[in-house]
Amino acid sequence: MGYDVIIVGAGITGAAIARELSRYKLRTLVLEKEAEPAFGVSKSNSGIIHAGTQNPPTSLKGWLCVEGNRLMREEIASDLGLNFVQCGQLIVVFGPSDIPELEKIKAEGEQLGVKGLEIVDRAWLDKNEPNLGPEVKAALYVPSTGLISPYRFVYALIENAVKNGAELKTSRKVVAVRAGEQGGFEVVAGGEVFRSRFLVNAAGLYADDISALAGAPTFKIIPRKGEEYLLDKAREHIANHVIFPLPSGSSKGILIIKTSDGNPMIGPTAHDVQDKADLSTTEEGLREVLAGARRMIPSISKSDIIAYFCGLRPVSGKDFIIRHEDSCPGLVNVAGIQSPGLTSAPAIAVMVCDILKKHGLELEPKEEFHRLRPRPVHLFQVPPEETRRLIEKNPAYGDIVCRCELVSAQEVRDSIKRGARTLDGVKFRTRAQAGRCHGGFCTTRIMKIMQEELGVPATALTKRGPGSELIKEERK
Ligand SMILES: Cc1cc2nc3c(=O)[nH]c(=O)nc-3n(C[C@H](O)[C@H](O)[C@H](O)COP(=O)(O)OP(=O)(O)OC[C@H]3O[C@@H](n4cnc5c(N)ncnc54)[C@H](O)[C@@H]3O)c2cc1C
Repeated sequence: MGYDVIIVGAGITGAAIARELSRYKLRTLVLEKEAEPAFGVSKSNSGIIHAGTQNPPTSLKGWLCVEGNRLMREEIASDLGLNFVQCGQLIVVFGPSDIPELEKIKAEGEQLGVKGLEIVDRAWLDKNEPNLGPEVKAALYVPSTGLISPYRFVYALIENAVKNGAELKTSRKVVAVRAGEQGGFEVVAGGEVFRSRFLVNAAGLYADDISALAGAPTFKIIPRKGEEYLLDKAREHIANHVIFPLPSGSSKGILIIKTSDGNPMIGPTAHDVQDKADLSTTEEGLREVLAGARRMIPSISKSDIIAYFCGLRPVSGKDFIIRHEDSCPGLVNVAGIQSPGLTSAPAIAVMVCDILKKHGLELEPKEEFHRLRPRPVHLFQVPPEETRRLIEKNPAYGDIVCRCELVSAQEVRDSIKRGARTLDGVKFRTRAQAGRCHGGFCTTRIMKIMQEELGVPATALTKRGPGSELIKEERK
C-alpha cells in the first residue's frame, strides 16, 4: 500500500486535515486538480473567522465553528505566522421588534459556548461604530469574531503539512477510484495510480462526484452563489467591526466586512444555482449587495467598488457531512462544507483524525512535529522602521514591484520559493496585482521574476494553470 491516507482536495478542509495527520507517523498524500492549492471555494469567501453565533445550537457546524475559532485565537495564528485580526462583530437591528430575535441569537450562541455576547444600544454604537446609519437601533456585540486572509491560511497549513512529511501533488484531477487488490483504494489522477488504505474526500463542490466514484453516491452538492464587492483601501476605516444584519433562512445576510489586508468588502449574496462553474457576478447581485450594505452604512457608494468576485458554497442540506461511509469501508466524506467552513477547518481536521482512528488508522505521534512556521514578510503590514532594517539587510525589499499594495521584488521571490507557480498564486500569497490597477503596472515585472526563479520561458507562465497562458509566442 503506497499511502496510509489520500486526501482529495487542497482547499482549507484538505489542507487542515493534511496538517493534522502530519503530526503522526503516517504516509499522507494530497491530490489537487488545480495548479495550486486554494484555487477552489477557499479563495472566494469573506475571510471571517466566525465566533459561532447564527448557527443552530444542535448543529455540527455550530460546534465546529466555535472550536475552530478557539483554535485560531489560541494556537493556529501564532503557530503558523498568520495575520489574524480579532475585530469583533455586530449583528444590527433596525427596530425594537427585532430585539427578541437578537436575544434568541445570543442565547443560542451562549448554548454553543460563544463568550462575551452583549446587546448594545444606539449610544454604544455611536461611540464604537460611528458610520452606522440612523435606521440602526441596537446590535449584538460578538467579540471573538476575527479576520484572516483565506488563501494565506490554506498556504500556511499545507506548507506546514509538507514540512512535516505530507506530500502534495497538484494538477492531479482524480478521475477514478477503484477498490485495491489488497483492500483500500486505487486512485487514478493525472495519468498515475496512487494506492492508500483510507480515502478522505475534501473535494468541495465536487465531493458528491468523488464519493460516487468511490462507490458511495450518498449525497448531492448544490452550489449556493455568493457575490462579493471589494472597496478601495481609501475606505479602510469605514467600519471597526464586521457588521451583519439579522440572518435570513439561507445565509448570514449582506455584510460589511473589514478584511485582514485592509480593503473593506460588501456581500455576499446567497442564491442556489445549478452550475458548479458559474462564477459570474450580476447587476441584480450588485443592487442587492449595495442596498443591504447602505442600509447599515449609508456612505458606501458604487464608486468605492474596485473589484468583484463570486464564490459558490458547497451545500448539501443544512449542515456539514463528516462521516465514514460504512457502505465503502475506508472512505471518509468531508462534504457540504458551506460557511463557516473556513473557520471550522482546524476543528474538522481533528474530528476526521478521530474518525480515521475509530476505523483502524493507528495515530502514533512523531518524535518531532514542526508546529511553527516562520511568518512571511508583508511590507504592507510592517512599520517603517522595520522596513528600513529589512532593506538594509536585503535591498530587494526596497524594490517595489506592486505600488498599489506595496509589494517588493523580494516578497514575490519568497512567494515562488514557498510554492507559487502561477500569477494568481503570487497574488494570493503577496497581494501583488490585487490593488486598484489589477496588475496593470506590475504583471510584467512579476512575470520576469517568475521566469528567473523558475527557469521557464514567459510562454510557460499562466494566470491560474493550463489554458490561462498570458503570452502565446515570444518575440525573437
Ligand atoms: C461567498 C462565500 C463567503 C464565505 N465566507 C466565509 C467566511 O467568512 N467564513 C467561513 O468560515 N466560511 C466562509 N465561507 C465558506 C468557506 O469558503 C468554505 O466552507 C470553504 O472554503 C470550503 O473549503 P473546502 O476545502 O471544503 O473546499 P474547496 O476550497 O473548494 O477545496 C476543494 C478542493 O478540491 C479540489 N478538487 C475538486 N475535485 C477534485 C478532483 N476530482 N481531483 C482533485 N482535486 C479536486 C478543488 O480544486 C479544490 O481545490 C464562504 C463561502 C462563500 C462561497
